[in-house]
Amino acid sequence: MVLKQALIFLGPPGAGKGTQSKRMAERCGVPHLSTGDMFRDAVSRGTELGRRVKPMMERGELAPDDVVMQMVEERLAESDCARGAVFDGFPRTLPQAERLGKILESKGFGKPLVVDFCIAPETLLRRIAGRWTCSVGGEIYNIYEAPPKIAGICDFDGGTLVQRADDRAEVVKERLAAYQRQTRPLADYYRRLGVLEEIDASASVDNVSRALAKIVNCGDGSDGRL
Ligand code: ADP
Ligand code: AMP
Repeated sequence: MVLKQALIFLGPPGAGKGTQSKRMAERCGVPHLSTGDMFRDAVSRGTELGRRVKPMMERGELAPDDVVMQMVEERLAESDCARGAVFDGFPRTLPQAERLGKILESKGFGKPLVVDFCIAPETLLRRIAGRWTCSVGGEIYNIYEAPPKIAGICDFDGGTLVQRADDRAEVVKERLAAYQRQTRPLADYYRRLGVLEEIDASASVDNVSRALAKIVNCGDGSDGRL
């Protein structure tokens, strides 16, 4: 990510976008913008936005583009986004991608860098089934691959680990279908713009981070290596 650039992590649910985007945002000193986290926060606080999107999230459907875009535009207007941001789970439809392109252009940002997390469906199902998240700091664990030291407790802040309501098998099926139908076409869109990079997301967490470090330049003279 060079100065004033958005980094977009594209890929199906469970591919590891959240895990890697948190690391990358910290490395590059820019915010991690997960629209899924923003919606979950709105749901847990019971805001008007939360009440509106809750039923869609429970069904595994995408929220409407205008709702997503208003939330993202407001967030991007905050001063900590001036240098750039790592987008996780956004954009998810062609209209969102086109609108984001216009917003970035109006802010004087260069073209985004888009990383496509490539992974087999059976690996996704195992990752999603094993995902537990800290209810305090949002740290992501996996009971099969990256368990906490003490079951059910976050290593970092002692918060209780919880499973996402939409990680139930029947909802996951719909989320994967929504991904194929509405989000997958974005890979071709960004490929045509010449900004798409692909990584093998089935590798270990550290190896995926290493692959990303080779692609992403934080724009501060560092090469993005761990
Ligand atoms: P996404 O944000 O794409 O939905 P997450 O980052 O939440 O995905 O990861 C999904 C689950 O897979 C989590 O339980 C996480 O701990 C685990 N995970 C993430 N990356 C890897 C990896 N490279 N290898 C094994 N497990 C991983
Ligand atoms: P995620 O945490 O990225 O898996 O997102 C969880 C849920 O939030 C999705 O299944 C959608 O219902 C909603 N959501 C998150 N990001 C978007 C987006 N960019 N567009 C539409 N809906 C979204």
